[in-house]
Amino acid sequence: MLKAEIQYHSTRGEAGDVNYWKAMMEGLAPDQGLYLPTQWPDLSETLWNNIQGKSIQEIGRQIARAFISDISDEKLDALVTDALSFDAPLRSLHDDLYVLELFYGPTLAFKDFGARFMARLMSYQALKNDQKMVILVATSGDTGSAVGQAFEGVEGIDVCLLYPSGKVSKLQEQQLTTIGNNVTALEVDGTFDDCQKLVKDAFADQDLRNQLVLSSANSINIGRLLPQMFYYGRALAQLEEQTEVHFCVPSGNFGNLTAGMMAAKTGMPARQFLAGTNVNDVVPEFLREGTFTPRPSQNTISSAMDVGNPSNLERIRALFTEMPLLKNHLWATSFDDNQTREAIAKVYQEAGYTLDPHTAVGYLTAQQYKQEENCDHPIVILSTAHPAKFSDIVEPVIDANIELPPALKESMSKDKKSIKASTSYPAFKSFLLSEYV
Ligand SMILES: *Cc1c(COP(=O)(O)O)cnc(C)c1O
Repeated sequence: MLKAEIQYHSTRGEAGDVNYWKAMMEGLAPDQGLYLPTQWPDLSETLWNNIQGKSIQEIGRQIARAFISDISDEKLDALVTDALSFDAPLRSLHDDLYVLELFYGPTLAFKDFGARFMARLMSYQALKNDQKMVILVATSGDTGSAVGQAFEGVEGIDVCLLYPSGKVSKLQEQQLTTIGNNVTALEVDGTFDDCQKLVKDAFADQDLRNQLVLSSANSINIGRLLPQMFYYGRALAQLEEQTEVHFCVPSGNFGNLTAGMMAAKTGMPARQFLAGTNVNDVVPEFLREGTFTPRPSQNTISSAMDVGNPSNLERIRALFTEMPLLKNHLWATSFDDNQTREAIAKVYQEAGYTLDPHTAVGYLTAQQYKQEENCDHPIVILSTAHPAKFSDIVEPVIDANIELPPALKESMSKDKKSIKASTSYPAFKSFLLSEYV
């Protein structure tokens, strides 16, 4: 095992190497690139070759230790254990198809893993530096609640979520506005783009930043990707045979899939990664035609994957610089909403299992791959959200009710608490100064 401290460098190569803490606190590198480790610890002997039966916490502690220095074993272990308070169970669907259920966190989606881990590490850093911090997040729904929940009650850090009034679902709004404590929801009279603009203006405002330490909890942050490696390990820990496993990932910004590739870099046995997208298919097109053409996103029923310019492709291209090499590791395809609905109905009828629309895209991807490539090895489909989160789409398709899990029921029964805001930046700035300084 590598003893030297792992450093992080920018994909654009024009920023200096930094340690984990700086990479996480900065989010984006100064040259606008994304952070990646400069070296890859080999965890074959210590972790991957004897992964069977290991818990998510055990796996998390080992991977975190290999990538993060300047913190005691005891403290890091405690933070990892606290972040990973729920499991990622593997279910067998049929014919060597497995579903890795990543929806047992507080907001019922995989983003809870990354957000909870990063929240605890940011809090540790803020307290160590005796610093108060404010996290600003513009959200169109799901990211805001995952980040808000993750930081709820976390010491040293306040969170301000900005969401567009009337443009998120009732369920999403309840999740955003009922967290309370150190998490404030601003209901902006405008669009998601207006929310994003307010956050960008705040980050660009030197006068504000002299008075307030600001940070973002954006999905491009290496601090959110690192913990997403853990559950790939947890999937293998639940399989009898760990060789020739394929991982199939429903993808939007490609952060989830990048985390799997990072795990593979440390020796995780994975035959290939399969990416499924909705009609926002710039990555499948890139693999097919060799050109990357970002474009405005189209709305679909798998809305968390409506991304027209997936930011983590920059990391993937840095990991595999040659196209033939990349194709050897990544296979991708796309499906439209009708196909997605059909898959939800079929799996419900034939296997008695309810897929959410994102996972359904993953299921279709795995099936297509199996047929086209004659694959009879296990395929693990990452299930990114609980179907109850998208009951408005799923219930009519399966013609049945989906029971709300307790976490959702609880937020539906609480009183909404939001502060109305306009799209004016000066008003936003005075709010931040009066609230947090
Ligand atoms: C965010 C999200 C995705 C897409 O994940 P990426 O890491 O952006 O590729 C898929 N499904 C759900 C439910 C999500 O919330």
